[in-house]
Amino acid sequence: DAPVFAIVGRPNVGKSTLFNRLTGSRRSIVGDEPGITRDRIYGNVEWNGHIARLVDTGGIIPDDEALIPTEILRQARVALEEAQAIVMVVDGRTELASPDIDLARLLQKTGKPLFLAVNKIDTEALDAGAQNFRRLGIKNLVPVSSEHGHNIGDLLDEVFAVL
Ligand code: GDP
Ligand code: MG
Repeated sequence: DAPVFAIVGRPNVGKSTLFNRLTGSRRSIVGDEPGITRDRIYGNVEWNGHIARLVDTGGIIPDDEALIPTEILRQARVALEEAQAIVMVVDGRTELASPDIDLARLLQKTGKPLFLAVNKIDTEALDAGAQNFRRLGIKNLVPVSSEHGHNIGDLLDEVFAVL
């Protein structure tokens, strides 16, 4: 069976956009539309001749800010159970916030390979902000722009190396 990795993170950080970028799909719902049932949760990712299954944990639950942090923890649990590696996504244009710290701690406890995709780094000028997220203590940090495709190859190199 193909190995599985998971995308985990707070609402609006760009999980669906990253999912679409990695799976080459446009079907996962991005943005403010509520229709969670139309989100694609699973997709295939192909990289250098290898195939993995990707799960977008954000597609499972409504993106409702009022549900944090319970729903974030639920997302994380889903990912923990079936994934061999986890990609935590944060919005690199925002400040590091306590739900991100809690989530990072929980994910680190799994002992599974963990990668931090600091998303929305559309330009080099934003790269300094991305480095603030080093404080989460996740060694494998990759600044990416899911929208523009920047550094996505670097992220896939790192993830596929452990699958
Ligand atoms: P999710 O709730 O985590 O699945 O986030 P979405 O993928 O739905 O994206 C939330 C918002 O962030 C949308 O308006 C996206 O267009 C935007 N977004 C996602 N990735 C990027 C990115 O790399 N750069 C910028 N500037 N915006 C992004
Ligand atoms: Mg989403």
